[in-house]
Amino acid sequence: MSWTENVRRVVPYTPGEQPKEQNIIKLNTNENPYPPSPAVRVAIREVTEEGMRRYPDPSADVLVSAIAEEYGVEKEEVFVGVGSDDVLAMAFLTFFNSEKPVLFPDITYSFYDVWADLYRIPYECMPLKDDFTIDPEDYKKENGGVILPNPNAPTGVCMGTDAIESIIKSNPDSVVIIDEAYVDFGAVSVLPLIRKYDNLLVVQTMSKSRSLAGMRIGFAFGDAKLIKYLNDVKFSFNSYTMNQTALAAGVAAVKDRAYFDTCCKKIIATREWVKAELKDLGFAFPDAKSNFIFATHLEYPAKKLFDELKSRKIYVRYFNKPRIDNYIRITIGTDAQMRAFLNAVTEILDK
Ligand code: PMP
Repeated sequence: MSWTENVRRVVPYTPGEQPKEQNIIKLNTNENPYPPSPAVRVAIREVTEEGMRRYPDPSADVLVSAIAEEYGVEKEEVFVGVGSDDVLAMAFLTFFNSEKPVLFPDITYSFYDVWADLYRIPYECMPLKDDFTIDPEDYKKENGGVILPNPNAPTGVCMGTDAIESIIKSNPDSVVIIDEAYVDFGAVSVLPLIRKYDNLLVVQTMSKSRSLAGMRIGFAFGDAKLIKYLNDVKFSFNSYTMNQTALAAGVAAVKDRAYFDTCCKKIIATREWVKAELKDLGFAFPDAKSNFIFATHLEYPAKKLFDELKSRKIYVRYFNKPRIDNYIRITIGTDAQMRAFLNAVTEILDK
């Protein structure tokens, strides 16, 4: 007998590489290529020593209020956390507490099975169809909860609001979490449904569409009772999740709607241009509505392309997993970065 037998052993989530190398083109972790709103820097500069000396407001009221106002909901319908990973981890702990399996797709955000294993939550993966779409019927059987990203990651494929609503409606006895990390790049949020279904949690993040991955700010919307349960667990885990700087940054970012809209529009325009170029180069991909494209080349193996691009200091993401091991996920960067990426791909394919 040794202490190691009592260790909670887990296979951790593997985040995308954050290379130390300079002068790379980084299209591997779905970061936004544009800086955050200029108001964010101003707000961070205004954080006082007094603000640093004291504990932050445990209810993160300034940020919760700013999000509630921007999205037209009540403060009691908003939860915030240290990136949506923290929000999702809290949500798994709070709502997935049944002997029945939690349902999510076989190809999806690879943190879901990690949290399920960590908390010993049983789960079942429902296979995506061959075209990477989700069959809503798969989520209408007995379960201990449902979690789906919309758009899905890493495929970028969207599900319509009616299909999502049919899943929420069929599951009055479990919580349905819709992970909308990428929703601002052209998909439709199911936020309005929180007033219709008290079993719906909608999770979003400032990491992608608001260029604040480094500040770690995630948020969620739901019925006031659902949010209260989430806060009860959060306050039983860590009262001060949001630090003073993140609070200031988040408030400034969420208030600058004009900058946010412009930034999202630029990324969408670049994505649509890159899709056309990739098609001409012999790639196939589902119609992504995210800030990334999940593409396979009809002749050139994905792993080799990933390695060749990396040797040219262009990082994309490759998943060595069943069904998707011949795909690369390409984050949408600036037009100049995407031109360099496309030039490199052309050169590799011509070799
Ligand atoms: N959900 C999905 C589907 C994601 O791809 C990511 C990014 N890795 C997250 C949530 C978490 O993002 P963050 O913690 O930066 O908000």
